[in-house]
Amino acid sequence: MNPYQDAHNHLQHAALRPHWTELLSTVRALPVNWMVVNGTAESDWEKVAEMAKELSFVIPSFGLHPWFLPDRSKDWEEVLRAYLTQTSCAVGEVGLDLWMQNGDLQLQKQILRTHLELATEFQRPLTIHCLRAWSELLELLRTAPVPNCGFLLHSYSGPVSMIEKFLLFGAYFSFSGYFLNRGKEERAHAFREVPNERLLVETDAPDMPLPEERNQFPLPKAAGFERPNHPANIQAVVRGLAEIRRRPEEELLRVIGQNFHRFFESVIPGTKFPLR
Ligand SMILES: [Zn+2]
Repeated sequence: MNPYQDAHNHLQHAALRPHWTELLSTVRALPVNWMVVNGTAESDWEKVAEMAKELSFVIPSFGLHPWFLPDRSKDWEEVLRAYLTQTSCAVGEVGLDLWMQNGDLQLQKQILRTHLELATEFQRPLTIHCLRAWSELLELLRTAPVPNCGFLLHSYSGPVSMIEKFLLFGAYFSFSGYFLNRGKEERAHAFREVPNERLLVETDAPDMPLPEERNQFPLPKAAGFERPNHPANIQAVVRGLAEIRRRPEEELLRVIGQNFHRFFESVIPGTKFPLR
């Protein structure tokens, strides 16, 4: 059996803390050999960095999520640059969000552009969160630099017709188990149009819960999360995507593993494998 890779989650989140011991033994047992743990604001970057030091399967990623831009310090760019200089980290989660209320699109664009410039300067993979701002994102990509490895559109929820356009800029697309919920069929089926070599999977744990019947590791309600998502649900995410693409699970897992290693190559230290 091939190991699993979770291309996007928030293992540092307080909602997962009470289940820490169980959570670690479960993901090790699957096994999950890599997960990209995304910081969202300067306040959680150090937690992510600590986690990467402690856990061999954690790839740290640092960025300013559009929801938390008002919390940034005036030195955020220098702090991010220091992480990029001192650690083998990815960039993100950063992005554009027109779903949130009172979001400042100009500011979001400027911050995303700065992250793209840094990711390109350091040649690191970058993860983008985009909600209802697909044409704005495409427009920005026409003038912003992009690292050679490309970038990840996590939990891609854009139109099928734009997949091809993002591919030309080097996009990877990660499938979320949330799209297996009733009413999300259109989002899920868009993943039939993503070419094999640009597919990734993610849990976004503790966010993006799977439907009850697919949730293999239900966690009790936590602050801000009705049904916190467990990162070991990555297995159920792969299974769901295999059904949607009508391919054997094992074949899909192999392809996704190759993609993960290609895209995140610059931040996967060879010495970290196998699991501690
Ligand atoms: Zn996320």
